[in-house]
Amino acid sequence: MPQRRILVTSALPYANGAIHLGHLVEYIQTDIWVRFQRMQVNDDGSPVEVHYVGADDTHGTPVMLRAESEGLTPEQLIDRVWKEHDRDFKNFSVGFDNYYSTHSPENRALCEEIYGKLEQGGLITKRPVEQFYDPVKAMFLPDRFIKGQCPKCGAKDQYGDSCEVCGATYSPTELKNPYSTVSGAEPVRKSSGHHFFKLSDPRCEGFLRRYTQGDNHLQPEAANKMKEWLGEAGEGKLSDWDISRDAPYFGFPIPGTDEKKFFYVWLDAPVGYFASFTNHVRSKKLGDKLLQDFLRPGGNTEMVHFIGKDILYFHALFWPAMLEHAGFRTPTRVYAHGFLTVNGEKMSKSRGTFITANSYIEQGLNPEWLRYYYAAKLGPTMEDIDLNLDDFVARVNSDLIGKYVNIASRCAGFIEKKFGGKVQDPENWKDDAILLNIRSEGSEIAALYDHREFGKALRKIMEIADRINKLVDSDKPWELARQQGKEIALHSICTRALEAFRLLTLYLKPVLPLVAANVEHLLDIAPLKWSDIENPLSSKNNIGTYKHLMTRVDAKQIAALTEANQESLKLGAPAAKPAAAKTTGKAVETATAQAGHISIDDFSKIDLRVARIANAEHVEGADKLLKLTLDVGELGTKQVFAGIKSAYDPATLVGRLTVMVANLAPRKMKFGMSEGMVLAASGDAPGLFILSPDSGAQPGMRVK
Ligand SMILES: [Zn+2]
Repeated sequence: MPQRRILVTSALPYANGAIHLGHLVEYIQTDIWVRFQRMQVNDDGSPVEVHYVGADDTHGTPVMLRAESEGLTPEQLIDRVWKEHDRDFKNFSVGFDNYYSTHSPENRALCEEIYGKLEQGGLITKRPVEQFYDPVKAMFLPDRFIKGQCPKCGAKDQYGDSCEVCGATYSPTELKNPYSTVSGAEPVRKSSGHHFFKLSDPRCEGFLRRYTQGDNHLQPEAANKMKEWLGEAGEGKLSDWDISRDAPYFGFPIPGTDEKKFFYVWLDAPVGYFASFTNHVRSKKLGDKLLQDFLRPGGNTEMVHFIGKDILYFHALFWPAMLEHAGFRTPTRVYAHGFLTVNGEKMSKSRGTFITANSYIEQGLNPEWLRYYYAAKLGPTMEDIDLNLDDFVARVNSDLIGKYVNIASRCAGFIEKKFGGKVQDPENWKDDAILLNIRSEGSEIAALYDHREFGKALRKIMEIADRINKLVDSDKPWELARQQGKEIALHSICTRALEAFRLLTLYLKPVLPLVAANVEHLLDIAPLKWSDIENPLSSKNNIGTYKHLMTRVDAKQIAALTEANQESLKLGAPAAKPAAAKTTGKAVETATAQAGHISIDDFSKIDLRVARIANAEHVEGADKLLKLTLDVGELGTKQVFAGIKSAYDPATLVGRLTVMVANLAPRKMKFGMSEGMVLAASGDAPGLFILSPDSGAQPGMRVK
């Protein structure tokens, strides 16, 4: 085997929203693969060289408008979001070597170089495009920023591409009574010159046929999909790709257009992989030869992209075609994964299953629980994976606590207390059949990790844990410890179990890096590499004091998590935000666009009342809650705990009228009984806004 040198990327998350559990599927999948590769050595004993880079995807209309609505410059917005994303990745041990931004000088230079080469090669063409234009805002409108009446069923407030009521798809020009969601104005048709990458050029088409069908660049199902998209030779199915956008736009100006035309965000986003790698190499002074080796053809290196299946088109067609014709290397592998469902359904804000990475951490859940659970569900295909919250609790408790950690907790203490922290002399157990067998399984487990068969790898590892637990159960070290003259037997079982535990830890290390580090400390061993399979415990190691390596998940923590992510009822609010327009790496962003209907009967079940806030106070020990006493007229007074502490000083609330759900089942909370819910509006942007009725409304009045 030649020496492996790998550049690995995860798709770039868009810089206008929080990282959520849907995103984490991809980052955790990539990180596990990267950590596995980092544990490997080449045939000559040198470590496999792995560079893992990422960046925020910062450009485009949604970021521009979002920043404006928050009163920020786009740069201020993307700075803030970068810090949030960076924090989230660190919390889940996603170990990027460099986490950067597409709004960077490296990216701009690379985009200009690529564009220049394509233009010199005759692969850029210009032609006018007629589009909707917002005359008030003086900007061209992406499809997602136009709404109107569905041309098929007449439903109001439908997006420019599809109707959420009848499911029809159409182009924005077919909408009846269209309006701009930016200004509300009626859009006009306007023509403008656009720049296209000539994907239809025979050079591109020929290259893409070879690339997508050869050398396992794509998974088989993805290669088939590409065959469909490419059609038959001569069919002319590939159309040119519009890579420009008109000012105002947050992005890089196209050279020679006087800042009137910008590169479309999807042109510069994947180039961000190269920009981040360039920044990594230069800022750490690794030597520019690395840039040649990894970014240009012929470097004998691998480039592996992990992406969601929704952005396959960009990574399997546009991106390699662009690189091939601009003098860069093309991707070695593009690995697409499926979407995340929670409890079998799309993530949902109203069910509380649209869970952000940060709220998971804030609720005190262990990130390695989620890493383990995702790994147990992940395979090499584009199939969706489901996070079933009951199964999550059961599996983490049964596998990680009941099987894996249990081995150390039952045996490590005896080694420390009875044998001065020393394992039995390996001469006594080096040929132990059970241990030899576990070692021999290492190469199969390695192959499973390498092929992204994480679920299968973990099943194999848990089978090993089962065998060891059976051994410990039959030898009963806790009984041996109480008997005279059984020291040798006790030393033997605890030593063998601990050596097996060391091997299990090695096999689990790509998934559980923090637990593995604690075990390395406990066992007094160097950071585990795959080759340490053959490096058993010995008298050189001083086994330390066993401390809990991991606690059980409590089902109550999961209930608290979904509750914390449950949005207040927002009846009549728009079903989706225009921010969903762009989906780089956002596998499940469309989850917000679900517009399930309820009947009027369903609605009338909710007893909404005007309430006067008679008192509002802080709650000792609660980070988010205020305790409200509500005067609800004929219904008397009710006590409600509301998660609005971040937005309101209690003193300013007293005397205000608001709206509450009066017939919500009372809930016992840590701080007392909550007898309802006050309604508040919130979006992706910070800020929380409780509702107020118009003047004249009285406490107790029904809202319907
Ligand atoms: Zn319709």
